[in-house]
Amino acid sequence: MNVELKTEPLSSWIDTGGKPLIIAGPCSAETEEQYLETVRGIAKGGYAHVLRAGVWKPRTRPGSFEGVGEAALPWLQKAKAETGLPTSCEVATPEHVELACKYDVDVLWIGARTTVNPFNVQDLADAMKGIDKPVLIKNPVNPDLALWIGAFERIAGAGITKLGAIHRGFSNAQENKYRNSPMWQIAVEFKSILPDVPMIGDPSHMAGKREYLAELTQRAMDLNYDGLIIESHRNPAEAWSDAAQQLTPEALGEMLKSIEIRKATYGEDFQDNLDRLRARLDNLDRELLEVLAARMSVVEQLGEYKRDNNVAVLQLDRWNKVHESRAAWGKGLKLYPETVEELFKLIHMESIRKQTEVMNQQPA
Ligand code: PEP
Ligand code: MN
Repeated sequence: MNVELKTEPLSSWIDTGGKPLIIAGPCSAETEEQYLETVRGIAKGGYAHVLRAGVWKPRTRPGSFEGVGEAALPWLQKAKAETGLPTSCEVATPEHVELACKYDVDVLWIGARTTVNPFNVQDLADAMKGIDKPVLIKNPVNPDLALWIGAFERIAGAGITKLGAIHRGFSNAQENKYRNSPMWQIAVEFKSILPDVPMIGDPSHMAGKREYLAELTQRAMDLNYDGLIIESHRNPAEAWSDAAQQLTPEALGEMLKSIEIRKATYGEDFQDNLDRLRARLDNLDRELLEVLAARMSVVEQLGEYKRDNNVAVLQLDRWNKVHESRAAWGKGLKLYPETVEELFKLIHMESIRKQTEVMNQQPA
């Protein structure tokens, strides 16, 4: 994918003193008192650069708290006046954009349930023409990188240059430890396509539960994310939305203190060592592919042999044996069992594809 967007660096719209950007606040602004007490706690902690609050809430099912709407926007203005911190909220319709501007909300974000729909994203882009505010775009609920990138193209097409990505994880069909599967590789791929767009982790919506916030936050920092958006509520257990994943402002401060921030700048020695190790990886990866190519050539011969003897491509008992022996070899080599399993599933699929191709060719 070849994508070029005009973007401004994060430092052009917020000064974090070189630290990761921290956006914190309740999932939803519920009452003036709840919102202001929460953001006062956050401001007191001194760790946040921007306040967040859901004003309009996209809910999976009707009947849940759907946000206060416009009536909450003066509270955001009050919070900004009191704390000096800029505010942010989710926008999902052109009317939300108009109201957020009317009440001077500083940063807008597009939610995961909106990013999935190009019609909605285009409506938002049209409504954002001429606005000079940072716009953060959450990944779509489904793991579709092109859809996420497409949303950036649409919003950038409206002339928005202060852009950021929020990685909040992806819906999972099966029972899963996390509410939304991080699928970190999608965010890493995003970075390779749009390296200038800052990446902000949303461990709250990935985790779904407070107890997983620290490990997900650490992971995002290990991947050198530019910032975090985390939900905080004065009384999480009583929150009207996302009660299980929020932290009090104090607990959030403690959690952030426990996170190790990896260095982003390196000395010369470090760079040399890094280059040397990377060169070794390059060589090993090349060898890996050479071995794979050699394996494919044997697979091809096997396909020809099966074809000439009229034997089916897939022999289940053989595959089961392959599966077991590779799992055992991997274990002996201290490789992560699930990785070995996934790898051989892929290799096996490719072998079947190759053999099927050979089967359908005429003998030479
Ligand atoms: C939110 O940030 O409160 C929210 C609704 O998140 P998402 O769009 O990621 O589900
Ligand atoms: Mn939430």
